[in-house]
Amino acid sequence: MLVGFGGGFMVDAHGTTLIQDPPGLYGVRSVFELPVHAVLLDAGGVLLLPDPSAMRRALSELGVTPDDDTCRRAHYASTREIDRLGEVDWVAADRVAARVLGVPDERVEDALAPISSVYLSDSWVPVTGATHALLALQRAGMPLAVVSNAGGTMEHQLLSHRICAVDPSGAPTGDDFAEVAVVVDSHVVGIEKPDPRIFEIALAKLGVGSANAVYVGDTVHFDVVGARAAGLAPVHVDPYELCPDDDHPHIASLADLVPHLVPAS
Ligand SMILES: [Mg+2]
Repeated sequence: MLVGFGGGFMVDAHGTTLIQDPPGLYGVRSVFELPVHAVLLDAGGVLLLPDPSAMRRALSELGVTPDDDTCRRAHYASTREIDRLGEVDWVAADRVAARVLGVPDERVEDALAPISSVYLSDSWVPVTGATHALLALQRAGMPLAVVSNAGGTMEHQLLSHRICAVDPSGAPTGDDFAEVAVVVDSHVVGIEKPDPRIFEIALAKLGVGSANAVYVGDTVHFDVVGARAAGLAPVHVDPYELCPDDDHPHIASLADLVPHLVPAS
């Protein structure tokens, strides 16, 4: 007997969760054959994006003024380049970003340093709807954790943007942002995705096994590959449907995942 919950999300008589190509998840076949006990999240591209205003300021000398959506698209196009190449080449990724941002071909090389400076600064802003989605998961009883390749300030950035905190009760006037078990920052722990050990740090803090955990990230190279290596089920945030792979699920945003996840029973 199958019990439908809408959107292609079903639970069978044994309580096994099945998701088969529901709306908002393309390229999915029975990905979540498990009750989900925790959601682990990437930060860049899932909770935060480079600040479009900072990008416009950085590119102003080149006479380029991309709008917010173009800046957003440039982020996902640049991370897609890493996945397409199958190796980490940030210069190649920044060249793709430059072209999407509207930099003329003859100025692309001049744009690399300004673009890189935005990525390496703390000039990131919340992804629209991400905090709301995190709160919805939290209110459903879902344990949460962040695992990010970052520069040592990710926990502070997420707190300062009122997205999530490890201990919201200790945060200033905070009841409108989510509580996470831990923010694992690669710079702090000395391990980077896709090394599975960085995910294991978060799983240990959450006290859950990898087989019942989902990892939401915006790249194949760091996130899908890393999560799988650690035994988690990967979910790829790919709002422009740039990823051609059909061996893992894709969503346009974290909000798309919320209706498909329920707390462990
Ligand atoms: Mg990311």
